[in-house]
Amino acid sequence: MINVTKTYLPNKEQYIKYIDEIWERVQLTNNGPLLRELESELKKYLEVENLYYCGNGTIVLQIALKALEVQGDIITTPFSYCATTNSILWENCTPVFVDIEPTTFNIDPALIEQAITPDTRAIMATHVYGNPCQIEAIETIAQKHNLKVIYDAAHAFGVKYRNRSLLSYGDISTCSFHATKVFHTIEGGAIISNHPELNEKLHLLRAFGHRGDEEYLFAGINGKNSEFHAAMGLCNLPHVGAIIEARKEVFGWYNDLLNWEKLQKPLISDDIEYNYAYYPVVFESESVMRRVQAALAEQDIVPRRYFYPSLNTLPFMPRRYACPVSEDIALRVLSLPLYVGLAQEEVQLIGTIINQHL
Ligand SMILES: *Cc1c(COP(=O)(O)O)cnc(C)c1O
Repeated sequence: MINVTKTYLPNKEQYIKYIDEIWERVQLTNNGPLLRELESELKKYLEVENLYYCGNGTIVLQIALKALEVQGDIITTPFSYCATTNSILWENCTPVFVDIEPTTFNIDPALIEQAITPDTRAIMATHVYGNPCQIEAIETIAQKHNLKVIYDAAHAFGVKYRNRSLLSYGDISTCSFHATKVFHTIEGGAIISNHPELNEKLHLLRAFGHRGDEEYLFAGINGKNSEFHAAMGLCNLPHVGAIIEARKEVFGWYNDLLNWEKLQKPLISDDIEYNYAYYPVVFESESVMRRVQAALAEQDIVPRRYFYPSLNTLPFMPRRYACPVSEDIALRVLSLPLYVGLAQEEVQLIGTIINQHL
């Protein structure tokens, strides 16, 4: 089977060396030495000051909302993974959806401004497929209306915008290190904050909210991660550059092969350093998408409807919003297989099948 993604695995002996160290120390979790080493390496790699390694890319969104004390309406994008919206609901805030730009599939800043009311407290935007949102426009709006900005940067590891890690923007950016992402620690995530004064709070929020055995400060959560996960991160981090290069090559093969008269892809600005996280293509209609999906399935090739559905249409949303662009793209998009080790012949086969069924 050729799946949409295949997890990168490091050298097993190297991982086992870390495991042996864990066995010696008998410290499996609770801010252990491997976790602290990973945090320090990530800060170096990303050139950021304040970073907290956590359990996954969803709990970090929740912790971000708690740390910034956001309560009320949050303007957010309908074109993302459901974790973005779910974290807002889970924190008892209300998602207010505004539509996306038809070119980049990122949240449309002009519509953000229109949607602001006295109840608006924050903007939660996703850098879709690792492609930066309109950061300056969003920042200007946020400052004008005194709103917090949280970026769900789950796709953005390794991306640089204006010579800085894309993870370093907003009040807080969060990342996911899930096994399907460009850089992974099996499960995992990180909070990157631009507020050093929040550091202790973030540290405490991810570990139940108490300092030592005696000071119980507030209701934290368990957002910790283990030494085993940190070890996987330490094995993978030195290879991220090569991983991104390998993905870039696959990206180029698809670019050359596919029939762009009948397909659309999101516009990726050329003034960024990109990470080639996904290869989404948008078909002319939902029925063409289904036809291609079925033809690929016959050859055991499994792309992913990513993102589908448009989050504003989820049945459990408290309010209804129309987001015609997002709803339309979500019906027609497929993310194609893209991973280290995907062979050129396999990409050729995928491209040929797609072109034949357009
Ligand atoms: C993967 C992903 C998440 C969730 O990350 P987990 O680590 O799986 O919890 C959140 N938002 C987006 C946009 C994602 O792609």
